[in-house]
Amino acid sequence: MIRLTNIEKRFGDLTVLKGVSVTVAEGRVTALIGPSGGGKSTLLRCINLLEIPTSGTVRIGEEELSFQPGGKPGWRDIQRLRGQTGMVFQNFQLFPHRTAVENVMEGLVTVQKWPAEKARDRAMALLRKVGMDHKADAWPATLSGGQQQRVAIARALAPSPRVLLCDEPTSALDPELSGEVVEVLGTLAAEGTTMVMATHDLRLASRIAHEVVFLDTGQVVESGPSHTLFTHPARERTQRFIATLT
Ligand code: ATP
Ligand code: MG
Repeated sequence: MIRLTNIEKRFGDLTVLKGVSVTVAEGRVTALIGPSGGGKSTLLRCINLLEIPTSGTVRIGEEELSFQPGGKPGWRDIQRLRGQTGMVFQNFQLFPHRTAVENVMEGLVTVQKWPAEKARDRAMALLRKVGMDHKADAWPATLSGGQQQRVAIARALAPSPRVLLCDEPTSALDPELSGEVVEVLGTLAAEGTTMVMATHDLRLASRIAHEVVFLDTGQVVESGPSHTLFTHPARERTQRFIATLT
């Protein structure tokens, strides 16, 4: 389970998250939607602590960390929480000088100190899962965007994270390539992968999210099961936003 409690994030005078609380149950998928600048990416980055919340509590599984203004969390505590997460970015961010399989192995070998053979076996199994094992020895630059993103998903899953975080995983892709990424994420969702994803992609959100959280100006305006939130949003602000997506 992921539980974010009263997360506040300030950048100088700018308060970007104003007390956000979100719970994601094991095996569920939550989509973060909302207007640009609303705080979706910042919230994702507060889960894996690429951003340190100004205050609030982040819980992932058994691991929990609370933050206070002026407080400084320990590096080990940050690593302990971050180690529970895998992240997929809009622009893939594969290591350009590593082949597909090496990209997936990298963290297992360097961070987790797995023997190379064992890491390669796991990497190949993950590439198979995302339909990319036939491109294991390809360089990222020779792959399509959809293929690169599928390798990036395999890489994020390599250390068996408790939660997969995705920041606009399809928005750099044209509809056809985004379709293959939606397929892969859909399969992972069906297998019970816990995910939190920020997205403007209504197809992605409605296809795989169980719950949707609508964030605007750093606050949760409305949240609920995706089928009701998309078809019968309760709040006028949500209705207006969803009308812009369709
Ligand atoms: P988009 O849909 O465009 O991706 P978003 O909902 O992901 O938007 P965020 O990227 O989380 O929004 O940004 C929320 C606000 O935080 C914006 O006003 C942004 O300018 C600000 N912000 C984000 N990161 C920083 C930073 N490192 N320093 C200062 N301000 C930041
Ligand atoms: Mg964003």
